[in-house]
Amino acid sequence: MRGDEALRHSGQTSWRGLVAGLEIDEPHRVRESWGPGTRFGFVPVGVNHVYWFAVANAPAGERDEADPCRELRVRFAGWHPPIDQLLADTPREQIIRTDIFDRPPINCWVDGRTVLLGDAAHPMTPNMGMGACQAIEDAVVLADALAREPSVDAALARYQTRRISRANSFVTRSFRFGQLAHLRIAPLRWLRDRALRSFRLVPSRLVSRVTARDFEFQL
Ligand SMILES: Cc1cc2nc3c(=O)[nH]c(=O)nc-3n(C[C@H](O)[C@H](O)[C@H](O)COP(=O)(O)OP(=O)(O)OC[C@H]3O[C@@H](n4cnc5c(N)ncnc54)[C@H](O)[C@@H]3O)c2cc1C
Repeated sequence: MRGDEALRHSGQTSWRGLVAGLEIDEPHRVRESWGPGTRFGFVPVGVNHVYWFAVANAPAGERDEADPCRELRVRFAGWHPPIDQLLADTPREQIIRTDIFDRPPINCWVDGRTVLLGDAAHPMTPNMGMGACQAIEDAVVLADALAREPSVDAALARYQTRRISRANSFVTRSFRFGQLAHLRIAPLRWLRDRALRSFRLVPSRLVSRVTARDFEFQL
């Protein structure tokens, strides 16, 4: 439907791994720590299983030397626990490295009886953890539109109208989030960190109300 289109490289690459047999404090929290041009996150994903990801500024296509685990342990040496342990406990052949790309938003998901949803419609960087969430919302809205509208054409038009601006906004914001997290210029990082720290002063009820707009979905 779209032909060959250029992807947009975020300027970042990522490594991911899964560690079994590790218990961590506060198992219901997702954690992400930022350093200059790099970040590390981890989240428990089942009984004693922890998923982790590392992200760094890098040109597209760069590959690891022999042992990604050793390189990552050097890169994150001195970061807080349990980062080093997570890296040390991950079998090196199971570490997956992928460069991070998306595609700038498009404004047409329907062509006759062909319709796009999920990553085909709005591939986004994983920074906000929203790709699959948006795919699920697409599916719910598409099913609802098909049930409500008298014709398929009307249903597809209704689906696109209802979904495109919300899903595309996550493409844009997720890309920007990655750029913000990986600022290369030190004074800009300083300003960013000051601004983020000031968010602590915002009442948590207000934060919940604002974030609910992103994470709640009403049909
Ligand atoms: C590192 C990473 C972390 C992520 N974290 C999150 C997160 O925390 N939260 C979140 O919501 N999202 C996250 N996502 C995004 C999420 O994985 C995707 O947005 C989601 O999988 C998209 O679903 P989809 O069904 O549209 O596409 P896909 O999951 O890509 O499914 C498409 C399927 O179609 C199959 N296929 C392709 N071509 C053909 C063909 N010709 N014939 C038959 N089958 C075909 C493929 O094999 C595939 O199984 C993350 C993505 C990445 C890469």
